[in-house]
Amino acid sequence: MLECPEKSITICGKNGCTSQAIYECSDCDNPAPLCENCLVDCHRSLPLHRPMKWNGMYYERESLAKLGIVWYLGYAGMQCPYVNEGRGIQELTVLDITGVHTISVGFCQCSKGPEPAEQLLLVKLFPATVLRPQTAFSFRALKLFHMVHLTAHTTVWDFIGAMHRLSNCLDFKALHGTYKQFNFVQRQWRIIRAWCQSGRTTIDGPKTDIPLAMPCVSCPMPKVNIPPNWDCDPDR
Ligand SMILES: [Zn+2]
Ligand SMILES: [Zn+2]
Ligand SMILES: [Zn+2]
Repeated sequence: MLECPEKSITICGKNGCTSQAIYECSDCDNPAPLCENCLVDCHRSLPLHRPMKWNGMYYERESLAKLGIVWYLGYAGMQCPYVNEGRGIQELTVLDITGVHTISVGFCQCSKGPEPAEQLLLVKLFPATVLRPQTAFSFRALKLFHMVHLTAHTTVWDFIGAMHRLSNCLDFKALHGTYKQFNFVQRQWRIIRAWCQSGRTTIDGPKTDIPLAMPCVSCPMPKVNIPPNWDCDPDR
């Protein structure tokens, strides 16, 4: 919540709109006060942004899902004609670098369409479970954790705690817990990254002979850091 008691009524102004602007997005790079319709129009392909709503006293968090934004998968952001079949529009918990979000997702329900988990992977969300995923982690959040773990030795517990506090600093325990799922997924992510970097492109086996382990620069290797005829050296 951002306290701003001196705020006066602002007009939206986007594309000539004259409605009252009561929203501001904290994640847009060029934020401007917007009315509800213009905010929704601007965020159809940005479902993880966090708008703030002026309630007359201060700005409070608002959810794009509550304003009707649905992230449609499988058709490059367009709605699948069978989206309401099966389980229809679903709620999905997503952990991104800006915190934990509850968004609405419309999966492609075509009979020959990809599985829900595959659809999430195609938009760079790593599902916590394969069947009926209800939680996912953005690739950028997994990459960020991998880096801060390697450089600052941040644990999964601390990283998840920071993400929950980013979402709701006052009552972070009220959020749906994602620690257990993130712990599993970040291990899978690191193994998959190592496979990719070693040239392994399928789950069935390596395409190359390159091992997953990195060579140790301190170990003696003929022609690399010791002479090729090192075993003939009388001082060896
Ligand atoms: Zn935004
Ligand atoms: Zn407007
Ligand atoms: Zn479809």
